This record gives sequence, C-alpha cells and structure tokens, in this order.
Amino acid sequence: MRRLISLPCALAVLLATAAGPAAAAVNVVATTEDLATLAREVGGDKVKVEALGRGYQDPHFIEAKPSFILKLHAADLLVLVGRELEIGWLPPLLQQSRNAKIQLGAAGYLDASLTARILEIPTGEITRAMGDVHPLGNPHYWLDPENGRRIAKAIEQRLAQLDSADAAYFSARYSDFDSRLTQAEKRWDGLMAPYKGLKIVTYHNSWPNFADRFGLKVVGYVEPRPGIPPSPSHTLDLIQEMKRDGVKILLVEPYFDLKTPNSVSRETGAKVLVMSPSVGGVPEVTGYIKLFDYDLNLLMTAIKETGAR
Ligand SMILES: [Zn+2]
Repeated sequence: MRRLISLPCALAVLLATAAGPAAAAVNVVATTEDLATLAREVGGDKVKVEALGRGYQDPHFIEAKPSFILKLHAADLLVLVGRELEIGWLPPLLQQSRNAKIQLGAAGYLDASLTARILEIPTGEITRAMGDVHPLGNPHYWLDPENGRRIAKAIEQRLAQLDSADAAYFSARYSDFDSRLTQAEKRWDGLMAPYKGLKIVTYHNSWPNFADRFGLKVVGYVEPRPGIPPSPSHTLDLIQEMKRDGVKILLVEPYFDLKTPNSVSRETGAKVLVMSPSVGGVPEVTGYIKLFDYDLNLLMTAIKETGAR
C-alpha cells in the first residue's frame, strides 16, 4: 500500500522540482560533518548539504567510496578542511568528479582553513620523514568556536557569491548563528573558568585549538607523532611524564584503539575519556554548538570525578 502511494508522490515531487519557479538549492558537499553542519547553519533551506566523512571516522583516513564521486560531480560548492587533512583521499576523487565548478581555484572550491586561526604552522623545512600528517599546521582547527564562526562567515560569503539572489538570507542566518554561538561561549567560559591550566594528555594531536580556547594544557600524546601508532618506548616516557605532572585525564578520539590508553591509565591512574572531536562522532552530537556542549560536559564530569586540577 505504502509503495503504491509513494511512487506517484515521488514522480510528482520530481515534476514539481523540474517545473518549479524557485531557484534550485546550492548543492554543497563538505568533507566532514563539522563543515556540513556549519554550511546548514548558514545555508538553511537554500542549500542541500552532504558530508563525505562521518564524525566517528578519522578524518585523515576516510575510505573513498564510489558514491563520493557522484556527490562531487553534482556539487556547486565543495567545502574542505584543508591543511592537507584530506590529502590521503580527496584529490583523486576530485579529479574523477569531472566537475570544473569545484576544482582548486574555482568559485566552488572553499578551503575553510584560509580564514581560520591555524596553530603549529611549521617554520622549518617541511618533511614527511616521520610520517607526520600535520605538515601545514594543525588541521583540527574547527575545535575552537571562533574558528567555527570564521568558517561560517567564509561559507556565507561564498554562498552569496554563488547565489547572489539569496545573499541577504545567508547573511541573516550567519548573524543568527553568530549570536547563538556567542551566547554558548559565555556558558562554556563560565564552566571552564575554574580549571585554567589543567594538564591533559591526548591520543592524537587533535585538540590544540580546543585546549588553547578553554585554557587546558596538553602535555603529551599517546602517538609519538601525529599519525604514528604508539610505541612501547614512547608509552613508557609518556607514563613517566604523566606521573610527574599528575595528569588525570587522557582524551581519546573515538576511532582509536583503547589498548594503549587503558594500559597508560592502569599505570598512572588517569581516566580515559573518549571525547568526540567532530559533529556526528556520537549520535547525540548533531550540531556545532552541541559538539562543545557535549565535550565540555564530559570533561567537566571527568574533572570532578578525578579531582584533576
Ligand atoms: Zn590530525
């Protein structure tokens, strides 16, 4: 019965879309769910947004699927994190998309890092000798809400360029997001104010912008270098360092194995805290502001549990 009704309905929708007077929505493809949610904030119902990577996947190592090529082929705007975060998977897809609108240099190619505040930009010679996956500065910059604001602004400006008839709409939506984010930041700052200088260790170097924004101090990593798996000698050094500094919290991104963090925890008494670095990392984190609400509440609970200072 359901099927009998839905097919004509679908046809009707298709015909209406084809014949309708309204401008077609801008087709946005974002490489991550963080960028996708920011594009939805600004674009509202004038955009159709798809994310390629999921928030529970390591954004450095997204598995390319044939469906990505189709999505890229149909895109008017590609929003990417940049700083070579997607270097391992995006370039061949972009080439195979055969879509001139979203190639580097085109109006439909938006590298969100260009207007963001980027930390850890190397000053010396750039080398991949150590397998470093952060050669152009830290690419996890969306974890500072000020950078979220800057990304949203960049998307607003680019959407206005691609769809100038709706520029005022995008501008109003940006302003609304900006004021909600400002309100939320006051809440987050109040929550974190008593814990300025709190020392933490993280698995991957995903959190420098987050730590900088909220007054935390990252004193070590489970990975010896970004993208390099834990080694016994590095883990021993890390344990010594954590004992010396009294580190009580070990943040782990959801896509890493807990074996090494758990053994570090047994040796140091630190709590292993799986925190989401992205929208979609856990099902309840469905938006950009919710990401910080979720993470900061988890962190706050862990701080109280462990008496970390
Ligand atoms: Zn990384």
